[in-house]
Amino acid sequence: VGAQPSIIARAERVTNGLEHLWQLAGADARTRGVSRFAFTSQDMAARRWFQNEAEAGGLFTEIDPFGNILAWTEPPVDGCPAVAAGSHLDSIPNGGNYDGALGALCALEAVRSIHESGLRQRRPLVAIGFAAEESIRYGIGCLGSAALVGTLEPDELLALTDGEGITLRQALLGAGLLPENVARARRAPGWANAFLEVHIDQGPELNEMGLPLGVVTAIAGPVRHWVTFLGEAMHSGAAPMRSRHDALAGAAEWVVKIESLGQAFAPHRVVTTVGNVEAHPGLMTVVPGKARVAVDVRGPDRTQTWAVWDMIWTEAQEIGRRRGLALSKQLVFELEPVRASTVMIDLLSNQCRELRIPFQEMPSGSGHDAMNLARQMDAGMLFVRNRSGVSHNPLEYSAPEDIDAALQVLTRALWQLASVV
Ligand SMILES: [Zn+2]
Repeated sequence: VGAQPSIIARAERVTNGLEHLWQLAGADARTRGVSRFAFTSQDMAARRWFQNEAEAGGLFTEIDPFGNILAWTEPPVDGCPAVAAGSHLDSIPNGGNYDGALGALCALEAVRSIHESGLRQRRPLVAIGFAAEESIRYGIGCLGSAALVGTLEPDELLALTDGEGITLRQALLGAGLLPENVARARRAPGWANAFLEVHIDQGPELNEMGLPLGVVTAIAGPVRHWVTFLGEAMHSGAAPMRSRHDALAGAAEWVVKIESLGQAFAPHRVVTTVGNVEAHPGLMTVVPGKARVAVDVRGPDRTQTWAVWDMIWTEAQEIGRRRGLALSKQLVFELEPVRASTVMIDLLSNQCRELRIPFQEMPSGSGHDAMNLARQMDAGMLFVRNRSGVSHNPLEYSAPEDIDAALQVLTRALWQLASVV
């Protein structure tokens, strides 16, 4: 089954849609940054617009109890797994206009163009605009897709609280959703058997290599620890240098070591980050008696990621011994890396080859909704070149020709998936 010439997916509708979403977000005039946090009025305006666009395209829409929008070519039928595509509509504070929105709009355009072609595919197609993917508001990412596959306990989920003390329960109510129905966002296994997500490349790789597209092989899993160095708080004037056990100085030595271990393992695509350090008591006139350090290690291979963490921890112990500091560690969070389905890697690669679009296979360093969908079905991702090389930044940018390349590959892949029984 090949893509039919009568399916016309228009990249212009995607770029116009991105422009429209940017305006709806009331983007910062100076930085051009978008701030569309989950379940805020800006987010809900974007969601309403997405739903209206889908309906204008003749799709049948559904808002699930967590606020995910599903736009179907036809109502889902039991026993006939759907083919899904999508990404998220929310953003970080002062973020870019492509992260999430690009994939949601490509999914909508691909599904809409297949629907408008009048060709009959064998399976229902569905474009999804996920809710609450960014972890910025509630500390956990990919909430909408987690609600959809049912991996989070509704009670835990609803009790999550944002920086202003607003619980997720309250945020859902504010957005016109009924928190008591959240468990019903979960879809029974078998509701769909394939998921594809287009996403802007969040690093410089495709841009540096001069390639428009990347086919994602795996999504890196993070291993996150808080580590505490315990020394002795002393008077900064009276304590002689030789008798100090400065917890912060030990932590500082360690932070630089963590960076160099990350550099050493860069060829294995492991990255190491210290995102936060707290010094106690945090006074200018007291030698810090305690320092807490937040360490995030990620890589596409779990064994390797843990091996790097073990080296980092060994370094901490060495520093602790030398400086007379006690140490404790606490694992805060771990997510296993997710491998993309080989079926999807092959499908996307073949479409790129047939369309003569240069691409490379690559892992994703950041998390995506596709990770959650991969628990229920074959899932794959397509990265689009980011001309600025940075993401979570207003400067992120995908050129119209690269968006068109991704859209054509996605549309053909979805058509193929929906055409087989
Ligand atoms: Zn994203």
